[in-house]
Amino acid sequence: MLTLKTDGPPSDRSDPLTGAANRTHFVECIGRLIQSEAILLVAKLDIRRFHDINFSYGYDAGDRLLAEIADRLRSVSGTVIGRLGANEFGIAVPLAAESDAAGAVERIRNPLRHVFDVNGRDIKLAFALGYAVGTADSEPITLIRNAGVALHEAKSPHARGISVFSAETDEKMRTRMQLTEDLGSAVVDREFVLHFQPKVRLDTGAIIGVEGLVRWEHPVQGLLSPDRFIGIAEDTGHIVEIGHWALQEAARFAKRLNANRAHPVRVAVNVSPIEFQHHDMAELVSTVLKQAGVDPDWMTLELTESLFLESSANHLRTFRRLRDLGVDLAVDDFGTGYSSLRYLEAFPVSEIKIDQAFTRDLHANSRRQAIVRAVIGLGRDLGSMVTAEGVETTPERNALRDAGCWSAQGYLFSPPLDERALLRFVESNAS
Ligand code: C2E
Ligand code: CA
Ligand code: CA
Repeated sequence: MLTLKTDGPPSDRSDPLTGAANRTHFVECIGRLIQSEAILLVAKLDIRRFHDINFSYGYDAGDRLLAEIADRLRSVSGTVIGRLGANEFGIAVPLAAESDAAGAVERIRNPLRHVFDVNGRDIKLAFALGYAVGTADSEPITLIRNAGVALHEAKSPHARGISVFSAETDEKMRTRMQLTEDLGSAVVDREFVLHFQPKVRLDTGAIIGVEGLVRWEHPVQGLLSPDRFIGIAEDTGHIVEIGHWALQEAARFAKRLNANRAHPVRVAVNVSPIEFQHHDMAELVSTVLKQAGVDPDWMTLELTESLFLESSANHLRTFRRLRDLGVDLAVDDFGTGYSSLRYLEAFPVSEIKIDQAFTRDLHANSRRQAIVRAVIGLGRDLGSMVTAEGVETTPERNALRDAGCWSAQGYLFSPPLDERALLRFVESNAS
């Protein structure tokens, strides 16, 4: 175990709760280690959903947990640990060679895999870890920053909680920062456009609805997909304005699409949970639809499962008022969230959208078929329409039809189209 020379009283240098070095001292430790050890791994570790633990079990339990995590990290030989934020630790480990980094990371993660005792309950925690490897000429501050960049990447859904700093992640982070900066003026300058993807009936192929999907016409980077900026917009709060705009656009388009149409085509719009926190959505939707002169029966709001799960009595009232107006509510990406089914009992859900994770290669996967059939049965018994998302091939479509699925969306039928192309699609579909 490494001992570090400390020049002052420990309280100046360490976090009283966990005994880990405070930020300033951690930077000094890295400076010293890198001089003496030449190759150093610096990691940043984040406890996922730590806020929920504080919230559910109390701050005392949260504090004990932090102390326990620090102890477990210290038990890994060679580590120096620092407390860098409320739920973030820094870890430094000298390496004999750069190629030892992955092994060292595993040694850090191993003791964290065991359950933690929180108020007598065994809890498994999820962590995200980002790391960077430095050599004698590295700046301690830069190493910590790079580990932070990697940590950010580690938290993204595809990273599975771990990531190493690279020039590529650095570039991604810089682009993200640039987009964050640009988003403010994009909202003012209206650089967004809604595209629409048809939803079709699986038995007849007739179009029954469209889903509005936002794109950003970035002046330098070209057309950006929502995956690039919705997360940023949610973090910065810009989603509130973008969402309001998308709702107005969808309403305007619904009016245009359904002028003189015997069977109206429903227009769906995606709504972020942040928008529900920010304003009374029933009031907002009602005002927007009135202003646009749109029948609420033509509109659907697509909401993610997380919104239903977090839902309070307040949300329930809002959902009811929306349904009373005539607006449909769809659960988006069904089955990919925490998938508690409790909310289906409480909330007036009109449509369940099965995520592409379950429809991909459906014909070749009998377990997936069992899940899809169960969801379809659930929808039927609850009176909710079931739509399969991301259908790309004919065998997938046939398997869905055989399972009794009513409607679907996906590249097989049409990609998202701009307004003019969508109107043409609707015309050709009708004939
Ligand atoms: P989502 O609501 O699940 O939308 C479906 C996504 O799947 C769309 O991606 C669509 O283009 C894509 N897709 C459709 N058919 C296929 C297919 O056959 N194969 C594959 N691989 N993909 C298919 P898009 O347009 O990039 O949107 C991504 C996500 O961004 C949306 O996922 C939604 O969560 C979010 N989003 C889009 N527009 C808005 C908006 O106005 N507000 C909010 N809050 N979120 C939005
Ligand atoms: Ca959607
Ligand atoms: Ca979806």
